[in-house]
Amino acid sequence: LMSPEPRIVIIGAGFAGTMSALSAARLRDAYGAEDGIEIVVVAPEPVLNMRPRLYEDDPAQMSAPLEELFRVTGVRFVEGCVRTINKSTPAVIIEQNNGEQITLGYDRLILAAGSRVVHPPIPGLSEHCFSVDQRHEADELWQHIHELAEQPVSEQRDTVVIAGGGFTGIETAAEMPQRLRTALGKDANVRVVVVERAEAIGPDLGPGPRPVIEEALSSLGVEWMLGKAVTKVDATGVTLEDETRILSKTVIWTGGLRATPLTEQIEAPRDELGRLVVEHDLRVPGNPEIFATGDAASAATDNDGHRTLMSCQHAMPLGRFAGHNAAADLLCAPTMSYSQERYVTCLDLGPWGAAFCEGWDRKVMLSGSAGKKIKEEINSTYIYPPKAEREVALAAAKPGITADV
Ligand SMILES: Cc1cc2nc3c(=O)[nH]c(=O)nc-3n(C[C@H](O)[C@H](O)[C@H](O)COP(=O)(O)OP(=O)(O)OC[C@H]3O[C@@H](n4cnc5c(N)ncnc54)[C@H](O)[C@@H]3O)c2cc1C
Repeated sequence: LMSPEPRIVIIGAGFAGTMSALSAARLRDAYGAEDGIEIVVVAPEPVLNMRPRLYEDDPAQMSAPLEELFRVTGVRFVEGCVRTINKSTPAVIIEQNNGEQITLGYDRLILAAGSRVVHPPIPGLSEHCFSVDQRHEADELWQHIHELAEQPVSEQRDTVVIAGGGFTGIETAAEMPQRLRTALGKDANVRVVVVERAEAIGPDLGPGPRPVIEEALSSLGVEWMLGKAVTKVDATGVTLEDETRILSKTVIWTGGLRATPLTEQIEAPRDELGRLVVEHDLRVPGNPEIFATGDAASAATDNDGHRTLMSCQHAMPLGRFAGHNAAADLLCAPTMSYSQERYVTCLDLGPWGAAFCEGWDRKVMLSGSAGKKIKEEINSTYIYPPKAEREVALAAAKPGITADV
């Protein structure tokens, strides 16, 4: 796997990793350096998993193929999981899906390995909770919901508890009554309860969209309990800190994300989510040959003190800058400073619609079915990778191109 030309290794084929690869290929193309730089993406499989859609129906289908896209743009794909970043060689050690280890040297490294939902040490959580964080986890949940129909009617069978009332918890809860009725029959006595430790639903979303969220959840028959932490989960339900028991065979954990543990292998400042705090060109301080991007990075979005969030909205543009800058370094071209002034939030609220908000105070601009139209466009078009046509794909990876929404 050694090659004579300088190599960019990108860890991860998510929103940021895919865009990084295309963007590096775009600059390489612009410099006529096709044979001069090798671009390699390392990930468990050559697909882009559509994490923001995993609360929707049939999550097993929520992925986009990348093989052809990488082939037409001259990006090499190596299947496997990076276990070690060895800065002194410099190289990454990859465990392939068959268990074999390979070493891949790099000249520039882009860490785009994303994030995972955090499992705090709550008894029974890891054994008994479902998740919508990764595709296989979301698929297990949907299969379980369909299997519930084979069980006799009971309070436990017909109740779903969503532990965590943030963005993901709200989107999952809003979808759930309809999903349960589809699986269990339209007359089933379904109960969906969101349990949130903070004193407000969507604590990180601020007060802007809260009335709309509350209206939507109420109209869908979703209950929420605030100021209550889950202290125990078992096969028959959850226990809250005030000893309240909620009987349920379906407890979904949505309590917060943390950056890839690979960030801990790089000596540099990290934030409270484990993200590397990067410079304006997304370089990791003190590590001139390493860039971090997507959910693995915290970058300034503007000069007003705002920083990127763990979102596709930031991961895709961050990827465009990281890929560009890694290639620019090798081509002796100047790097570009990342910035992204506009910020929107679009929260799916199930059959009720969606809330489309603008700005960091999340002022609701559109709600109900008007908001839903935008959400559907984001989920079906905007977050998907470009067509596997060389010119189209490279043009879509230009840093700083503005989003349509
Ligand atoms: C249910 C849900 C709803 C969401 N809704 C929204 C939304 O409405 N709007 C929004 O903007 N964002 C939303 N998000 C957040 C969004 O999905 C993430 O911010 C986004 O996926 C981050 O992109 P990324 O490329 O940094 O990481 P990821 O998409 O997590 O991709 C990481 C990639 O790295 C690979 N990888 C991980 N570890 C390794 C390793 N050791 N070696 C090799 N490869 C590795 C993974 O397989 C994957 O290919 C949602 C997330 C969830 C779970």
